[in-house]
Amino acid sequence: MTAEFKIALAGNPNSGKTTLFNALTGSRQHVGNYPGVTVEKKEGVYRLEDKKINIVDLPGTYSLTAYSEEEVVARDFLIFEKPQVIVNIIDAANLERNLYLTTQFFELGIPVIIALNMIDAARERGIEIKEDRLAEFLGVPVVPIIARTGFGTLKLMEETVRLAAKKKEWKPKPISYGEDIDSVLLDLEERIGAENFLTSTYPGRWVAIKYLENDQQILDRGRKENADLSAELEKKVEIVSRHLHETMETYPEAMVADHRYGYIKGILQKGVITHKYDKDRLYTSDRIDQVLTNRFLGPLVMGLVLFGLYTFTFTYSELPVSWLESLFGQLSLAIDKILPDGQVKSLIIAGIIDGVGGVLGFVPLIMFMFFGIAILEDSGYLARVAFMLDRIFRVFGLNGSSVMAYILSGGIAGGCAVPGVMATRTLRSPKERMATLLTAPFMNCGAKLPVLALFIGAFFSEHKARYMFFFTILSWTVALVVAKLLRVTVLQGESTPFVLELPPYRFPTLKGLFIHTWEKTWQYIKKAGTVILGISIIIWAMMTYPGLPAGEREKYAMQRQEVAAAFPAPAADRSGMTDPETTAERASRLLAIDRAEARSALCYSAAGRIGTALESVSFLAGFDWRTNIALLGGVAAKEVILSTLGTAYSLGGDNLEEDGSLAEILATDPDWNPVKALSVLLFISYYAPCFVTVICITREAGSWKWGAFSMVFNTVFAFVLAVLVYQIGSLFC
Ligand code: GDP
Ligand code: MG
Repeated sequence: MTAEFKIALAGNPNSGKTTLFNALTGSRQHVGNYPGVTVEKKEGVYRLEDKKINIVDLPGTYSLTAYSEEEVVARDFLIFEKPQVIVNIIDAANLERNLYLTTQFFELGIPVIIALNMIDAARERGIEIKEDRLAEFLGVPVVPIIARTGFGTLKLMEETVRLAAKKKEWKPKPISYGEDIDSVLLDLEERIGAENFLTSTYPGRWVAIKYLENDQQILDRGRKENADLSAELEKKVEIVSRHLHETMETYPEAMVADHRYGYIKGILQKGVITHKYDKDRLYTSDRIDQVLTNRFLGPLVMGLVLFGLYTFTFTYSELPVSWLESLFGQLSLAIDKILPDGQVKSLIIAGIIDGVGGVLGFVPLIMFMFFGIAILEDSGYLARVAFMLDRIFRVFGLNGSSVMAYILSGGIAGGCAVPGVMATRTLRSPKERMATLLTAPFMNCGAKLPVLALFIGAFFSEHKARYMFFFTILSWTVALVVAKLLRVTVLQGESTPFVLELPPYRFPTLKGLFIHTWEKTWQYIKKAGTVILGISIIIWAMMTYPGLPAGEREKYAMQRQEVAAAFPAPAADRSGMTDPETTAERASRLLAIDRAEARSALCYSAAGRIGTALESVSFLAGFDWRTNIALLGGVAAKEVILSTLGTAYSLGGDNLEEDGSLAEILATDPDWNPVKALSVLLFISYYAPCFVTVICITREAGSWKWGAFSMVFNTVFAFVLAVLVYQIGSLFC
């Protein structure tokens, strides 16, 4: 019995398809037209030992979108005839342009083998291609050939048969098209999958991409199959189109194309191709990249850029942050005057203004940081950062696309672990993916940023940018070391090669920068006004109830009376003869009593008791009971650390009289010092991810065990680190 295979030959016009087809099939060919259209259809047979290989020569195309008849014919053939393998013929002298079509085969998921043609002509022009590297990064076999002489064609056919015999399922290879597009794509894909929309014919993600590309043929088929759903998808695409147009002055099709080229560029930059004498024919983007991704200059520039970003943020946000702080201070004073003493006043001042206000106070800083990051992102520089770090990541058993997950999680500052964790979906190896999604929450997300800013401002205010830089580098180091640790223990396995996209540089538009900055800032504000507000109120209640028992309260009342008796009030004597010293003494004694009462009430409250109970362990790292409450609240959301500290110090009576900011209170509190601050900061950076992130990890990892693991492991790890720093630091300070 002879085995029979069906393969398709595809490639750009002038890549040598006809030449190869003739060389393979000789006289055994049949020429006709595709049914209904005038595009030439050629079929032929190649025999390899006892195997019969039917080859169809597809029309030459640059792309698989439905722009021309050739493109429609080519892709309909692939989808409806389902050949076992595509032999993708590529002109080696025009590798970059030719691979564009290849990326679209990947999107479809059909098994591909690459015939790297015209290597003779390429060599003449000084182009050298390392086919094994190309194969490694593309993840498909690459066979160099010279179609005109027949060199390599036997090997090509042997490899083709081997691939065809594997009978692989079509498995689309996801390429990232940038944050904006990727998130809609996920959304569309989910809807398409849920309704089985066109999925009997096409892969779901592919349909989503075609909707984004506004592909007429697919739109028509979609409308016919399910008009409502199609309208819904089109609406979503329209929204992202408008958004892209406003922010980047581009549209989805262009963005998708840019990232396909970016993907190719990412591969070619990895020493796949060397030009011997064509150096001056580089495009502007490539020239910029020669400096910015240079082995030595690149990291140097990257360091300077980061440091510049932090300096810019901390320097220019200082003034507006202080305005906001004094605004909230004024607000507290005003409310203090208007409202009578009692629970409502305490809730508003201690719970809401000192809690949520503390979080909102950092809005200018967040905004400046986001603005800087928007510049890096919109210009295309961020992709280069990821590209450069790729090499380092491999050493630690992670993957190139882990870098993007880290950056999204707040690797530079101010991201969020939730999209970071979701971004790990593009990682093919499950072990690498787990290691990435467990360590991504170590980054300084937007919620930790104000907490960092608070402590840095209070204890290391001399060199804010330097400390921010230090904490950033430290987070990456810790994440990588932990990832390595996981990769050599519970998550052992090979690293897979991966390619990062290098989209072309572009000038960010001012409007785009403002929109991106505002979107993220608004999310921060919204979260403060909703989730954080809710948690703040709960925590305020836990810090207020149960109130001091009557006996205790009486004790303080007695003390007040004693003071009143010893230092008579001026108003008691109409002559106004009380000397000012007595008045001052009286006021300060009364204040001391108020403070002592507030403090013991806080200790007595539900939260106070929990915090105090935890002190029996946390003293090792130097955390006092108020910090413990804040850290516990931080598991709900990291901003809560800030709001809880604000409320705790407010209820504890520390801001009675002097209306200093939380940073000032901490800086002057004898209970605090830089070593303790450092220990607390390290703990905050690495302990259990916030609640939403844990849910997200659980969902992405497919098991609640990993969610639980991230909470327990991270907390233990962070605590050990904090204890070490505190104990060793205390020896020296
Ligand atoms: P098609 O448009 O893809 O069918 O390309 P053709 O087969 O018509 O080839 C385009 C041109 O490239 C022709 O002039 C071929 O002779 C030439 N060609 C094809 N294969 C090779 C090769 O391996 N080396 C060189 N130097 N030229 C080739
Ligand atoms: Mg031809």
